[in-house]
Amino acid sequence: MDRDTATATTRTDRAAAGRTGEDARRRLPRTDAVLADPRLAGATGRLGRALVKSVVTEAQERARRGEIPPESVADAAVAALPRTAGGLRPVLNATGVLLHTNLGRAPLSRAARDAMSAACGPTDVELDLATGARSRRGASALAALAEAVPPAEAAHVVNNGAAALALAASALAAGKEIVVSRGEMVEIGDGFRLPDLLVSTGARLREVGTTNRTTAGDYAAAIGPDTGFVLKVHPSNFTVTGFTRSASVAELARLGAPVVADIGSGLLRPEPVLPAEPDAATWLRAGAALVTASGDKLLGGPQCGLLLGRADLVRRLARHPLARALRVDKLTLAALEATVRGPAAPVHTMLHADPRRLRDRAEHLAAALRGAGLDARAADSAAAVGGGGAPGVTLPSAAVTLPEEYAPALRLGTPAVLGRVEDGRCLLDLRTVPEEDDDTLAEAVRRAGRGDAGGSGRGGGEPDGGQDSGEAGQEGE
Ligand SMILES: *Cc1c(COP(=O)(O)O)cnc(C)c1O
Repeated sequence: MDRDTATATTRTDRAAAGRTGEDARRRLPRTDAVLADPRLAGATGRLGRALVKSVVTEAQERARRGEIPPESVADAAVAALPRTAGGLRPVLNATGVLLHTNLGRAPLSRAARDAMSAACGPTDVELDLATGARSRRGASALAALAEAVPPAEAAHVVNNGAAALALAASALAAGKEIVVSRGEMVEIGDGFRLPDLLVSTGARLREVGTTNRTTAGDYAAAIGPDTGFVLKVHPSNFTVTGFTRSASVAELARLGAPVVADIGSGLLRPEPVLPAEPDAATWLRAGAALVTASGDKLLGGPQCGLLLGRADLVRRLARHPLARALRVDKLTLAALEATVRGPAAPVHTMLHADPRRLRDRAEHLAAALRGAGLDARAADSAAAVGGGGAPGVTLPSAAVTLPEEYAPALRLGTPAVLGRVEDGRCLLDLRTVPEEDDDTLAEAVRRAGRGDAGGSGRGGGEPDGGQDSGEAGQEGE
């Protein structure tokens, strides 16, 4: 009996839903008709027909589900068109983490973006236009690096910092030993550990010292005919305090074996705001034979790995078979050179932002949002470098705070906005938001307040909630 009743109820519901469903289906515009809308037809040249069609199909589905009237299918599709055919969506980084790994680390400067755009077509990346002959790949980017770091005799660029270390280990220590302190056997993030990377190249690790203390004498005792190089790794994502000791690059350089020094962050010269961060010029002057670094951390450029130092060693690296597998593309070289030669990168601007100015912006934004009826407040905040740089350093900052429920709505808006959730409030930290984006940020918050994702683009949909503990979540690098 129960079962029959349940069946009857379901049948009645379905009949009701079927009537509106049938009606909606009858009024549902055909795909071809929607695609003929000039706004959508115009977008096919930019995005491709298949992509525009999938957006139309999704809008038709929404109409079929009764979420929008059938007459709005074209409008909904236009609103949902992605900005580009690429799947990556721009995100406003309001986390207060300057180099957010999940957001692709350093944002590029306008100069770097322009340089990439100019290099998109055929370009002289490996050709000397004066002679018409083949030239060294990326010669001008390499020259820019060498000029920016005077003690570097030569430079080479690979895919990322890990690739730089892998190439150094392969070319200089395969079948030999890398002497490294037990205090510098680090995990760089997402489960990737430098010791595993080094061993995978065929080098052997010769561990010296202890987790908290390693002296130059420990290294000296381990150096011998089997030594490929001594490795010095900057502990870029953790700090060890208390009873600690480590050997300086200058001390290690006096031991006779070449010193490969991994600075991590990519600072080319000292950064006064971050006195504890090593830089390439200083460590080379101290006697490092090679310095390795990432291009997309504190240098503020594209993802790449830098190798700077002795000309003979750089030549060996560049000639190693693996170099070909790790080489970077013309877009990376263009962006890197523009970052090195051009105006200050955004990460530099963020690092040097005046906290009073940040507070003024927060007050101004919060007042404007309150004027629109939102529960917005200005608050002091603490930003961090992140992405494997300056562990333990907090940068005084200011934020606009909103009720926690804004976090998922902001994340799903266009542009997406990523804040961080603290003490039941959604914080939008302004140190990582370029000032010229303040209006865009305010508009995104207003739309989130109205429950309007603003043309959610592909993959947009219901706020999913429940994932906010990971907001701005940062796991290693
Ligand atoms: C970030 C980092 C790496 C890895 O560089 P990627 O560019 O992420 O490959 C290696 N060593 C140190 C010290 C780092 O900080």
